[in-house]
Amino acid sequence: MLANGSVRCDLCHHRCVIAEGGVGLCKVRRNENRTITLPYYGRASALSVDPVEKKPLYHFLPGTYTYSIGYVGCNLWCPFCQNYAISQSVDAQTQRVTPESIVRSALDSGCPSVSHTYSEPLVHAEFVIESMKAAKAAGLRSVLVTNGCARSPAADEVLSACDAVNVDIKAWDPEMYRSELGGDLELVKDFITRAFRNGVHVEATTLVIPGKNDDDDQIDGIASFLSSLSPDLPLHISAYRPVYRYTIPATTASTIERLVGVAARHLGYVYAGNVWGETSTTTCRVCGATLVGRRGYSVDASGLDGNLCSHCGAPAPFFAPR
Ligand code: SF4
Ligand code: SF4
Repeated sequence: MLANGSVRCDLCHHRCVIAEGGVGLCKVRRNENRTITLPYYGRASALSVDPVEKKPLYHFLPGTYTYSIGYVGCNLWCPFCQNYAISQSVDAQTQRVTPESIVRSALDSGCPSVSHTYSEPLVHAEFVIESMKAAKAAGLRSVLVTNGCARSPAADEVLSACDAVNVDIKAWDPEMYRSELGGDLELVKDFITRAFRNGVHVEATTLVIPGKNDDDDQIDGIASFLSSLSPDLPLHISAYRPVYRYTIPATTASTIERLVGVAARHLGYVYAGNVWGETSTTTCRVCGATLVGRRGYSVDASGLDGNLCSHCGAPAPFFAPR
């Protein structure tokens, strides 16, 4: 506790000092009676059954659906946020859920996993961790789709309960991260490194915005960093479309194609995203057989036998238990 009844939240890089009755920058963590409380604990802004490829996760339980839950609020303020109605406001309509009700819904809908996604789940870390533990007890996997801006111990606690993450790496420019998005690139790198070292399945996504992060050096930096952990980490290079505060024209397919080529100098699995008519194939690096074919969200994973190539039996970098 600080002077005047203020408290500090250490969950993310902002380290907000919150006055009595006030909220932090994410709008969801409140100081009530000199204690941090979570008024939106267990409040879901969205519940949906999505292909796991939509997260996007291409090497995690391919071809399955994931029960997806969104919250309200975010600790960043990206001007291109596609989910700004729930990330930048806490006034969205919500419904009450519990870790147990989420597990029940996931099981009822035949999903092998639960995803915490859409807005920023990490600012609801306590609820997310409880839900992940309940999912694990029921034999379900847990996925986190995140901006990766959380400090430890919270980051480590979430990661220890989690099976897979997709982390946005929004740029390779610390200044853009800080001034335009309110984020912290070093913290994102640290989060990804912790996830990888904790044995969590890691994929990353970069939304390419013309004039902001579409030069080769940015993508080269991102891919090179991921490759320093493992050249097998999948990177999704996605096209932006104008939304929320950005009116910059959409990213062209040729830009995405060029940047996929840049990233592929470092990484074995680089995928284009948000491109019309998008298809992708992951092949066995030993025999060249198709492991997984994708056309949009239509997925054929029959080339995998668990995480082995069903043709030659070579190990494949997939989280796909039999
Ligand atoms: S999680 Fe929210 S309240 Fe806590 S430091 Fe980050 S922005 Fe501030
Ligand atoms: S981190 Fe994600 S949810 Fe938050 S503002 Fe940025 S794009 Fe939106």
